[in-house]
Amino acid sequence: MNFIAREEQYGARNYAPLPIVIVRGKGVTVWDENGKSYLDMMSAYSAVSHGHCHPRILKAMQKQAENLGIISRAFYTDQLGLFLEKACQLFRFDRALPMNTGAEAVETALKAARKWAYKVKGVENDKAEIIACTNNFHGRTIAIVGLSSEPQYRDGFGPFPAGYTLIPYGDHRALEKAITPNTAAFLVEPIQGEGGIIVPPLGYLKACAEICRKHNVLLICDEVQTGLGRTGSWLASWQDDVQPDGVTLGKALGGGMFPVSLFLAKKEVMDVFTPGDHGSTFGGNPLAAAIAREALTILEDEQLIERANRLGDYFLSKLKQVHSALIRDVRGRGLLLGVEIAPSCPAKKVCLKLSEHGILTKDTHETVIRFAPPLVVEEAHIDYVVEKLQAVCSELEAEMNLA
Ligand code: PMP
Repeated sequence: MNFIAREEQYGARNYAPLPIVIVRGKGVTVWDENGKSYLDMMSAYSAVSHGHCHPRILKAMQKQAENLGIISRAFYTDQLGLFLEKACQLFRFDRALPMNTGAEAVETALKAARKWAYKVKGVENDKAEIIACTNNFHGRTIAIVGLSSEPQYRDGFGPFPAGYTLIPYGDHRALEKAITPNTAAFLVEPIQGEGGIIVPPLGYLKACAEICRKHNVLLICDEVQTGLGRTGSWLASWQDDVQPDGVTLGKALGGGMFPVSLFLAKKEVMDVFTPGDHGSTFGGNPLAAAIAREALTILEDEQLIERANRLGDYFLSKLKQVHSALIRDVRGRGLLLGVEIAPSCPAKKVCLKLSEHGILTKDTHETVIRFAPPLVVEEAHIDYVVEKLQAVCSELEAEMNLA
């Protein structure tokens, strides 16, 4: 059975996967069609924080699926309120709006910010502005790629909505300069994940929060990737002592099993939505709500956030000990780590070699290799990965005559 050929023939060519066919997963390990095992250092772009096929997620999913799957928001359910209550209490927000994917949560945030600007802040109709950062990643819809500074994400998809301003990431003074009376919100990732695991200077977010408050601008943190413990706390924003006005969550919220996303906000922002303003057929369905509530409870019960913190520090210190002329930088926080490879060697080549040793990861922006395993990863896995990274780098150096 040639799975790769089938995907290539019948699928759109919008991805370039490594030539490995994954058929099963359990915890940190996945298996290919030939039974070869791999340690998953990608966890589906941080969506599998609980590990693959977590037994409690499976149980919650099955139990709910046997009762009621989808009913739509035309009716109340016994699941949605419980999930939203848990999320609001954990993340300290008044209200939450459930969607399915990260991009939809970001779209929701953008709509909320614009409507807040008109209805609450008093911005003149159709004049609201959103400020975002260069090198951002917030998703792939037309409105969102309109915010992107990455030429490939935009090429061929214009025209884009108006009302966006881009400023350099990590520079709070640029934010203050860019704000006008029409600014609705500043949308920012606490750490830029897809942009290459870019960690801003300490205190950056706090300074941005103060500037936003001073100018009556909403601070919206896109924590689709950094949230839910990935960087060592429930929200990465909290590490800078910041409670944003709104937050987007996704990925790991679905327990590695289901697409679930949320936009959380304070009341003043969320209450701009009235029935019919916004929605999604699948958003907040009982199956998603049951899975996501269990996903949050597991993060608490298994202390996965503390684990991300502790093992993240361990992983980072170990990666820093790898000696290679190919490694330019090692950075990140919690279990969202990146190793920057010298431009002379495509990072994809390193990823392919690592896969031969049973380690799965992927390059981002061609030069950065991400190490973002499920939060259930163990020290022994980390030791193995670092040992093999050292071996692969030495091998490549020798091939390139760098040694
Ligand atoms: N925001 C951030 C910060 C992300 O990292 C991503 C996905 N990589 C998204 C939004 C989009 O999420 P999705 O792919 O689920 O639409």
